[in-house]
Amino acid sequence: MDNTSTKSMLQERIDRRLIFFPLPLQGHISPMLQLANIVHSKGFSITIVHLKLNPPNPANYPHFTFCLIEDGLSEIEESFNTDLISFLALLNNKYEPLKQVLLQLVADTSCDPVACLISDAIFHFTTEVCKSLQLPRIVLRTGGVCSFLAFAAFPLLLQKGYLPLQDDRMEEAVIELPPLRIKDLPVINTPYQDKLYELVQEMVQQTKASSGLIWNSFQELEEMPIAKLRQDFQIPIFAIGPFHKHNCTAPSPTEDHSPISWLDKHDPKSVIYVSFGSIATIEEAEFLEVAWGLASSKHPFLWVVRPGLIRGAEWLELLPEGFLDGLNGRGHIVKWAPQLEVLAHPSVGVFWTHNGWNSTLESICEGVPMICTPCFTDQWVNARYVSHVWKVGQHLEKDLSRENIERAVTRLMEEREGEELRERAVRYKEMANVCVRPGGSSYDTLSKLLKYLSFS
Ligand code: UDP
Repeated sequence: MDNTSTKSMLQERIDRRLIFFPLPLQGHISPMLQLANIVHSKGFSITIVHLKLNPPNPANYPHFTFCLIEDGLSEIEESFNTDLISFLALLNNKYEPLKQVLLQLVADTSCDPVACLISDAIFHFTTEVCKSLQLPRIVLRTGGVCSFLAFAAFPLLLQKGYLPLQDDRMEEAVIELPPLRIKDLPVINTPYQDKLYELVQEMVQQTKASSGLIWNSFQELEEMPIAKLRQDFQIPIFAIGPFHKHNCTAPSPTEDHSPISWLDKHDPKSVIYVSFGSIATIEEAEFLEVAWGLASSKHPFLWVVRPGLIRGAEWLELLPEGFLDGLNGRGHIVKWAPQLEVLAHPSVGVFWTHNGWNSTLESICEGVPMICTPCFTDQWVNARYVSHVWKVGQHLEKDLSRENIERAVTRLMEEREGEELRERAVRYKEMANVCVRPGGSSYDTLSKLLKYLSFS
């Protein structure tokens, strides 16, 4: 190899620093760190500002600097355990601590000059902080564009009477947002509905007011929603996902690789992988129906039961004694799985998911069809798109009873319907692979983003 080609392989350093501020929830932290890895690999230096709750592990990112905001952890943790909306409202109350940290970072002349703050969209208060420091603010929205459009339509939905939800209208179509029905709108069961509307409105308004908007999505997947977004939002928009396909993946927070060796023992496409993400909770009775539904489906299953998943239970104590032993190795339960590796494993045939955006995108990227059981907010919209737009999964809409679960698994694992979903999923997988390669839509958009960040 001559000197010129060696040189072209070494990424030039860009004398600019990007400050990232992730929301302290797994589904928001992972994509933001993946994005930080991508731009770091293109030459930027990176500082991650974070709270004490769910801190990232600096050992996994020796190439970043980290900066902790020391503030009100117990208060934040307590509200997280009681109500998600109050928790998110409280997180938006950190104006002064963030400002002090940013002031120090901006003034630090021993490091590269700060180009901008990259803020999670839900941290709407960062607009004011950035304004006071005359620092550009770029937003990362970690969900899909399809659900963001539904959030952006909240004023209209309220005005037209779709919201607040009414039990007797749930099946009605929302004609302004096809193919959504009222029951697919991205709301959450909270005693503080007004706080929810306020939070959503602020998130949308402050995203509109930002200097740019980054998406962990890709043009081919969300062509129509992205086109609509461009009409309504007059800011630069960068759809550069799937982030984890850019070869700069952030590690999953687990040391447990037992799921992979367990998967190795099974036939191709024979296993149902079950996970409801990092926050969703289910009732004790639902947990038992899931267990018996999986047991009676006759297919091997890998199930993530996160401590805290079952309301009122520690972990697996509700399962009858000998439940797993009775299945003769057909079931494997873990507290957390390396999901990207699991979905990429040839033995996985179906993903039963709550349709968080990351899980949805990760499943699409591996061509794995989904059984959808959304729990709250954008998951409803994602599930509707999975089943009715991309047609790569089926929504388990009926009661979470063992009979319905068994039926859904059989349909996807054994019947022609499941085969068709898989064929379409594989086509999306190919699109996801192509879009991050030179000449692909996300690859090209990433080049534009890098240019934009270099001059912001
Ligand atoms: N995840 C994982 N192992 C698990 C469960 C989840 O690595 O056992 C990861 C998953 O790959 C995804 C994230 O956690 O990247 C969950 O994000 P998502 O948006 O799907 O759902 P949320 O947790 O925000 O509801």
